[in-house]
Amino acid sequence: MSQYDLRHLVTGSEPKAAAMVRELRAQGITHEALLSVMGTLPRHQFVEPAFSHLAYSATPLPIGRQQTISQPLTVARMTQWLLQYARLGRVLEIGTGSGYQTRILAHFFNKVHTIERHQSLHNKAKQRLLSMGVGNVEYWFGDGQIGWPQKIEMDAVIITAMASKIPLALTDCLKQDGILIMPIDQPTQHIGCWRKKGDRWQCLGTESAHFVPLLEGTEDA
Ligand code: SAH
Repeated sequence: MSQYDLRHLVTGSEPKAAAMVRELRAQGITHEALLSVMGTLPRHQFVEPAFSHLAYSATPLPIGRQQTISQPLTVARMTQWLLQYARLGRVLEIGTGSGYQTRILAHFFNKVHTIERHQSLHNKAKQRLLSMGVGNVEYWFGDGQIGWPQKIEMDAVIITAMASKIPLALTDCLKQDGILIMPIDQPTQHIGCWRKKGDRWQCLGTESAHFVPLLEGTEDA
C-alpha cells in the first residue's frame, strides 16, 4: 500500500477502518491480505463528502448519480470468492461506480478492465485511482452488458449491479473454468459465484444482497 493512502487514514479514519475489519472478521471474512487492503484503503475518499463520516459503516452509501457503493461486507465477500477460486490474471468489472471495488481488484489481479455507464462516475473514478498511483486498470465508458470493446478473454468477470439474467457477452469473454460473480434477482435478490464449465455453470456460493440495477445504454452526465 502506498504512503499516500496511509497518510490519509492516519488523519482520523484509522480506528473506524480497524473496527470495520473486526466486523468483517466476525462475519466470516478470513482472507488476511484482503482484510489488510480493506483496512488501509481510504474508503471515505470514495463516497460523497457529506457521507464520509459513515464510510466505514456496514451500509451502502451514495456516490453520485443515484448510485451507491456496496457495504464493506458485500465487497469483501465478492472479492474473497475471487481470491479463493479465480486465476488472478485478467478481470472484467461491470459498474466502476466510485472505483472502490476496482481499487481492491487492482491490488490482487495483474490487469483490471472496468466499465461504467455514467460518464461523470467513470471520469471521477479514473482520476481518483490514477491519483492513488494505480496503474494496472483500463477504464471504459459504455454499456457493460455489451462487454469489453476488444475481444479479450477474462479469467474472471464481476458485475456490481443487479440483473435478471446474465448478459451473454459477459459469459462469452470468460475463459473455461473462469469465475463469474454477480448479483441476480431470480428467484430472490442474491449474489452468486459460478465457475464456467463448458456451457454449464458450477455454483460455488451464494449470499443474499441488495444492489442498484444493471441498466442499458449510457448517460453523459
Ligand atoms: N463497484 C462500485 C459500486 C457500483 S454501483 C463501487 O465500488 O463503488 C453499480 C454501478 O454500476 C453504478 O455506478 C452504475 O452506474 C453501474 N452500471 C449499471 N448498469 C451498468 C451497465 N450496463 N454498464 C456499466 N455500468 C453499469
